Amino acid sequence: MLIESLSVFPEMFEPVMSTSILGRARAAGLFEFQAHNLRDWTHDRHRTVDDEPYGGGAGMLMKVEPLHEAITDLASDPVLPRPHVVFFTPCGVPFTQHVAERLASYDRLLFVCGRYEGMDERAYELADERLSIGDYVLTGGELAAMVVTDAVVRLIPGVLGDEMSNKDESFATGDDGGLLEYAQYTRPASFNGSEVPSILLSGDHAKVDAWRRRNAIERTCHWRPDLLDQARLTEVERAYANEVLRALRATDDSE
Ligand code: SAH
Repeated sequence: MLIESLSVFPEMFEPVMSTSILGRARAAGLFEFQAHNLRDWTHDRHRTVDDEPYGGGAGMLMKVEPLHEAITDLASDPVLPRPHVVFFTPCGVPFTQHVAERLASYDRLLFVCGRYEGMDERAYELADERLSIGDYVLTGGELAAMVVTDAVVRLIPGVLGDEMSNKDESFATGDDGGLLEYAQYTRPASFNGSEVPSILLSGDHAKVDAWRRRNAIERTCHWRPDLLDQARLTEVERAYANEVLRALRATDDSE
């Protein structure tokens, strides 16, 4: 997989792309990353990428011509496959684990990052999709592109040491997925009077699995009840979730 970014601050990417798991995956050839400088597609002395918005208002907007030229140029590489072009904007579709899984299936992704007050609307005509990483406003799309790259790359087979690590995680999209991850513990078994649940020390794998599943349901009820509608639960598990929700509401009411 080849992931590319197009932005005015290409130097932001290298530290992230060469550290820890991403760095190792890249060194092992599990993905390639290339950061392009949008200014390389300007033709004036000042390498201008922004201008004032028509109609007035604060701040500057990214001009359509350099973006158009850069994306067209990158997309028409004679050797590489056409990239799937993703624009980052707070006005995009919310990025989720589902989207990460879908993006992980492309051979080539091009992440287009805005700055200033955003982009001339006509630039989006070259977007295959628009993504937002959340309901807040960043100073630029570079961090968004790195967030998405991180989430996508860890799904590439071989990137995480243990192939199972993806399976039980929060938001996992398998047959029994859609919940937050269960609580986890490591040594010591007792810390400041707080004990690790004894089932986890029992060595009984079936019991451990059952505890984890229940714990995942309880935590999701508590922290992210909005996920329950989409979560894949058996009938018995669904009934248990409803019971937990009722109990939580009862304690809320009594407070
Ligand atoms: N004026 C715009 C915000 C521009 S922020 C608005 O109100 O919608 C500048 C750039 O940062 C954007 O072009 C986008 O690429 C990036 N950005 C900011 N917040 C983002 C978010 N939540 N998700 C993805 N990209 C974001």
